[in-house]
Amino acid sequence: MMHEDDRETLILGEDIDDDHFHDECGVFGIWGHPEAAKLAYLGLYALQHRGQESCGIVTRDGEILHTHKGMGLVRELFTEAELDKLTGDAAIGHTRYSTAGPSAGKNAQPFSVQCSKGPLAVAHNGNLTNGWELRKELEDSGSIFQATSDTEVIPHLMARSRETTLSQALRESLLRLEGAYSLVLLANDRLIVARDQRGFRPLSLGRMTAPDGSTAYVFASETCAFDLIQAELIDEVHPGEMIIVSDEGISRERFAPELDRAHCVFEHVYFSRPDSRVYGRPVSQTREILGRILARESPVPADCVIAVPDSGVPAAIGYASESGLPYRLGLIRNHYVGRTFIEPQQTMRDFRVRQKLNPVRHVVEGQRVVLVDDSLVRGTTSRKIVRLMREFGAKEIHLRISCPPTIGSCYYGVDTPSTAELIGANQTIEQIREFTGADSLAYLSLEGLEKSMGDIAGDCCYACYTGKYPTELVGIETLTSQAKK
Ligand code: AMP
Repeated sequence: MMHEDDRETLILGEDIDDDHFHDECGVFGIWGHPEAAKLAYLGLYALQHRGQESCGIVTRDGEILHTHKGMGLVRELFTEAELDKLTGDAAIGHTRYSTAGPSAGKNAQPFSVQCSKGPLAVAHNGNLTNGWELRKELEDSGSIFQATSDTEVIPHLMARSRETTLSQALRESLLRLEGAYSLVLLANDRLIVARDQRGFRPLSLGRMTAPDGSTAYVFASETCAFDLIQAELIDEVHPGEMIIVSDEGISRERFAPELDRAHCVFEHVYFSRPDSRVYGRPVSQTREILGRILARESPVPADCVIAVPDSGVPAAIGYASESGLPYRLGLIRNHYVGRTFIEPQQTMRDFRVRQKLNPVRHVVEGQRVVLVDDSLVRGTTSRKIVRLMREFGAKEIHLRISCPPTIGSCYYGVDTPSTAELIGANQTIEQIREFTGADSLAYLSLEGLEKSMGDIAGDCCYACYTGKYPTELVGIETLTSQAKK
């Protein structure tokens, strides 16, 4: 499972990539519960792994929208007193991580605006591939933007719409968006959620019973948020679907035809929590199968299987079961690594990895180890871990990666470095093995990944592993370079 400090790899990594405009986010929505703010808080708390930079909640009390948002983790930003101020029986929330654009609080979501359609607040997960183009067009005709996030184009488009109702204005605006979005929108009289036509990013619908016995509807990027608040999963929000919840009840409609599906496979490989169901499928199940198929494809004589925690654990368990090798806890993660730390003046090699991961000497000493990690991006983390394991006495280290080589940057909402920095895009497997210092290296095949996902119909986006993108990418370069300004 990914932990919030996994992000430190990239936040604190020596070679930080700020070349991207990629927001990794989690969204939440609830309608019809007197404790909407608290439940949104808990929902975001469960979605914290999807973004640790900023977060926010907006509630409605029927008259005005109340907002609290800013930089920091959910548990840091929201106090009991702050939550008490967020009155009302409906809320939306967002948690965000971005490698670029000013990471200042102004990009924190949800965005609240007052427009001709009344007050509204919007938050979204995913990247609009035409976000920059739309923004330019809106700016050229007078719109003033508060932040650099692409989400802000949505309320601007809505404000300009000639449609008189909010739902119609949103429908019209959504038709102008390209790329990935799982969106939650709150107005005084309704909560609307929508998912792009290809279903890039996940979004689920659930329900729970309010204290007065009525049904409250909830929405979340991942179902682990439902578990925490004891909501029941009903369905996914379908690609191209818009769901409107108001005091009149719930209505589901298609705002646009579904296009060829492109569910982000990386959600299952790494990003989502293993206790979530994503695209109707348990993430932990996929990850264990990834490990099993990896063991079938790339067996090696060894003494034990060790995971790079937390994200490598389910695949390592799968690899161990399939290979018959014992799964052992040979690397321990310190979960309390913060954003700042004190580093000794005396240079310590691999200090940043060391403070997060420590090998268990008696487990690794003299052993031939199969070391399983979920992915290898720049290769720097694996290189350090391999070195550390050797220092602690591992005799052989066979690195197994439970996905294919990452060769393409993501334009749909996952933070991947530029192609130039992706080791898989620039070096052969043998060169990568040499770089990491492992005795052997194997990745899962693309077919193995498809099989693990049960993706017979070709419903997933594999662009980061194939370089084949399911949408046009016009203007992306402008987008990424402008985001730095
Ligand atoms: P690298 O050193 O760049 O090869 O980083 C690989 C490590 O980063 C793996 O252990 C992954 O678990 C983790 N990782 C992979 N993708 C991401 C991502 N998008 N954001 C943060 N960490 C990631």
